[in-house]
Amino acid sequence: MPTELTQAIVTGYTDYRDDDRMLTLFSAERGRIECKARNCRKPTAKLLACAQPFVFGEFELFSNKDRVTVNGCDVRETFYPLREDVDRFMTASVCTQLCNGIIEQESSDEALFSLLYHTLSFLAYAESDPKDLLIAFLLHYLDHAGYRPSLTRCAVCRRDIRADAVLFYSADAGGAVCAACPHSGKPVSKLALEAMRRILLLSDEELVRVVLKDDLRAELLPILRSSCARMLGENDRSIALLDQMM
Ligand SMILES: [Zn+2]
Repeated sequence: MPTELTQAIVTGYTDYRDDDRMLTLFSAERGRIECKARNCRKPTAKLLACAQPFVFGEFELFSNKDRVTVNGCDVRETFYPLREDVDRFMTASVCTQLCNGIIEQESSDEALFSLLYHTLSFLAYAESDPKDLLIAFLLHYLDHAGYRPSLTRCAVCRRDIRADAVLFYSADAGGAVCAACPHSGKPVSKLALEAMRRILLLSDEELVRVVLKDDLRAELLPILRSSCARMLGENDRSIALLDQMM
């Protein structure tokens, strides 16, 4: 019976029976893994520490046919401060849930894993406003999923719009739209488009540097929410979480 070690982050769980938990893991090498953590909810359980949301560790997994069970885990990081701040916890929940929406089984995704790992680290240990980290995460997440919004060209006619005074944002069209093109979008400020362009230039390690004013946060969050909902569908669980947060 094969056992294997994999580094992963706990991105979700469901409790079942009295003491068991089904974990969703995001492994950089193997993508999404659904596995059982037996007896992990007993106070003395050896799996107690690892069967928690956001935990990063090296998991020892045992596979039997299509069932995977956690045998043990070397916990590397719990991101514990996330549990002490409801805004940070909610933001981390949105980010992990968004990842669950696109990661696939047996499919490595090191870039998305790195984005999630860095975002959880900054949410737990940096002074940054969680909304700024969320905005940065959402933009890079959309980019990663192939939904990078068009920001310097009209998403419909592809004309350079950097000199235009009046612009709109349409998730259906795929980003900024000029005033001459038909669209279902809402007005967007040039400042918001420029902020998104700059955030997309940052590496994962640099996302902690994003600091936005309140009015810009208030403009960007609904825009990015609309693009995520366009990609995942309005009924996706992460969109409901995002709405709760906003
Ligand atoms: Zn246009």
